[in-house]
Amino acid sequence: MTVLVTYNEDFSNQGYPFLKYRLKPSFQALQKLVSEEALPVKVIKPSVTDDIINLVDRIHNWRHIRDVQDSGYYEVSLLSVASVVQAAELLSIDRTYSSGFAYVGAAGHHASPMGFWGFCFLNDIAAAITRLRDLGKDRFLILDVDPHFGDGTRAFFKNDKNVIHINIYSGNKDEIDVNLNNYDYGLPYNANDEDFEAVLERALSHSFDFDLMFIVFGHDSHISDYGGFALTYAVYPILASKVKEYAAMRPHLWVLSGGSEIEVASRVIPAIIEVLAKDTKGK
Ligand SMILES: [Zn+2]
Repeated sequence: MTVLVTYNEDFSNQGYPFLKYRLKPSFQALQKLVSEEALPVKVIKPSVTDDIINLVDRIHNWRHIRDVQDSGYYEVSLLSVASVVQAAELLSIDRTYSSGFAYVGAAGHHASPMGFWGFCFLNDIAAAITRLRDLGKDRFLILDVDPHFGDGTRAFFKNDKNVIHINIYSGNKDEIDVNLNNYDYGLPYNANDEDFEAVLERALSHSFDFDLMFIVFGHDSHISDYGGFALTYAVYPILASKVKEYAAMRPHLWVLSGGSEIEVASRVIPAIIEVLAKDTKGK
């Protein structure tokens, strides 16, 4: 099945400096791979519409939005929200696609209804869930594998049991609330591939119904990047395969999060999309 990719060159032009230099090289590496391997990948260019601005006004209060405007990253954050919302909408209504990858110029998982930090200004996934609920979808699974805890997203959905929120993060304990569907798995500093795979297996041992799954993908988990884990290139295709197997043809959208290393982004993003695009039996 075709993999949907949303990308806009303004992410690399206007994005948050710490995050933006990886974007264009990784997209070019993806295009090269798609062409060499003839992968079924469709790229769509997201754009900011009145709908996107209205959605953001619904999920964040006016002070938050004013502060984001003052930061200078409002436009690129809106475009990042558009990337996630428009990809999620297409995945949920067009069965040509079962999976997608949304590029962003600024990340989302530290943005709560009334605050933001850590290069995350507007919560892209909260906006997408709000939009999909307008369309009648109700139940969502968020698997956040960025080493930094998705505190902003948790602030939106901590009491919403129809949003299953799983974090695999840099921390020293597991906290699980099966009633509210919040599942947090801590991994130590310098966690390696084996540690990560073991915890991923536990995280995906539960069976959940969902209309759409989001994967918050921060490649700051790579040993050469800044997130404090010590994962190697080998683990990312494994992660993609496990997620794909878990999703079992249900729509799932990878949403780019942390990571700044150009080389890492240029290898892991195409590697993940390659797994999504190839048929499960291996081509
Ligand atoms: Zn991170």
